[in-house]
Amino acid sequence: MFMHVDDGRRPANRVSRKSTCVGQENGFGQGNWQRGVRAAPRAVRNVAIPGWDCLDAGYALNVTTHRIESIVLKSWPLHEADLVVSLLTREAGKIKGIAKSGLKSRRRFGGALEPMTYVLASYAEKPRQELVRLDSCEIVASPLSEEMDYGRAAALAFYTEVLEEALPDRDPQDAIFRLTLAVLAHTRKGHIWMPVTYFSLWIPRLLGWLPELGRCTVCEEPLTGRGGYFHAEMDGLVCETHRPAGARMLTAESLALAQTMFRQPVAKFAASEGEAAWPAARAADLRRFTTQSLERHLERRLRSVEALRRLAKA
Ligand SMILES: [Zn+2]
Repeated sequence: MFMHVDDGRRPANRVSRKSTCVGQENGFGQGNWQRGVRAAPRAVRNVAIPGWDCLDAGYALNVTTHRIESIVLKSWPLHEADLVVSLLTREAGKIKGIAKSGLKSRRRFGGALEPMTYVLASYAEKPRQELVRLDSCEIVASPLSEEMDYGRAAALAFYTEVLEEALPDRDPQDAIFRLTLAVLAHTRKGHIWMPVTYFSLWIPRLLGWLPELGRCTVCEEPLTGRGGYFHAEMDGLVCETHRPAGARMLTAESLALAQTMFRQPVAKFAASEGEAAWPAARAADLRRFTTQSLERHLERRLRSVEALRRLAKA
């Protein structure tokens, strides 16, 4: 913890001065990345400057400040008005930070700590300290800018819970970061099942938990065009011959959808499918297969998965 630096007496303009330093070093202003998710420039990434360049005198020399693209996962109170915030950063992986007076400071955080908000996070860290000091979060895209209903909230809670539980701290996963931004852009009121299915399929794949789906994992018999069977206690799919007791079927149609999702970015897949054509029943077997895989590898039930199952039945 940064007991020595944030005692409430620091100048009010330090955050903005630091931001100016970062912008100057990289040759872009705030307007560039505020245009939206797709417009965020690559140059924003990996902004890390030595702490003594822009900070007040007295700041320890080994403090490093960062200003990097992040997705807010969750936050919870620490004591008094402080918050602990879990962030999925693009360059540093999942980190946790203290937002001093986060409950009160609307100027620095406003609505930016809502889960699944895409932000530019400014934080300071010291070597060998687990918690960083979160100075500000500037919103790039907020999930609250679109209409929210129970289904969309359940989908966002699913992304949040999976990322929070599945990703180790400090392990950068750029593909997962990009996947999350992409599915968020397609998760709209009344249209959640396609992005939820896409996310639930890709996450175990990107984490190396999903074997090739086109063949039986026991005998390697091709399953494409026929479908296969899955079970909560095993990875991948098997053929009819190797189907264990209690296995469920993944239909040929759902297997074909999964294979298409692996070939296409979510935007192209959405365009080819037509998002309105995704009722909860579509590829429900695929979603059960992928969420079972997630829960087995995490060794726990996911509350958000249960909420989605109840929603699909409603
Ligand atoms: Zn087989």
